[in-house]
Amino acid sequence: MEKLELLIAETAIADAVNRLAHEIDRDYQGRSPLILGVLKGSFIFLADLVRAMQTSIQNIEFVRLSSYGSSTVSSGQAKIVMNVAEAAIENQDVILVEDIIDTGITTSTLLQELQRFRPASLKLCALLDKPDRRRQPVTIDYLGFTIPDRFIVGCGIDFDQRYRQLPAIYALEALEE
Ligand code: 5GP
Repeated sequence: MEKLELLIAETAIADAVNRLAHEIDRDYQGRSPLILGVLKGSFIFLADLVRAMQTSIQNIEFVRLSSYGSSTVSSGQAKIVMNVAEAAIENQDVILVEDIIDTGITTSTLLQELQRFRPASLKLCALLDKPDRRRQPVTIDYLGFTIPDRFIVGCGIDFDQRYRQLPAIYALEALEE
């Protein structure tokens, strides 16, 4: 059994998405970035973000990483299991879109990989940041919310593949049977 506690309401998420879209529009005038989402957790945030943006978008691509499985504790390992073609990245202005930055291991690994493909620029946009648990430094260029060290679900983010469809962000607590 699990208990959900509301952390960030749907309206606050919508406000943050609009703010981030405006920041990106301001910074990318005259450019057409490649939006690169990290599956599966970023899919709802990414869909909301690109619809709030005015900036023309060159392409939307996705990469997929290994996840926690059915555990709520990061294994500290990030494995890229699906890659985007180097040609899609080279000389492009790339915006990497993440659901949540926790230890930073996943994102810093991915950013290093992407730099090898020589993008014209590479920025990071994340809905949530849990800085208390950082083990690898990560610069988040566009950030929705800083949150405490709780295990969260909703807005694309799962627990064992469940809860992704929830429109708000919740902290999940496991209850004793
Ligand atoms: P990191 O490598 O920064 O520790 O982990 C980032 C990834 O771990 C996120 O993209 C997300 O998939 C997962 N993650 C980190 N914190 C949470 C959390 O509180 N809830 C869920 N469901 N996944 C999380």
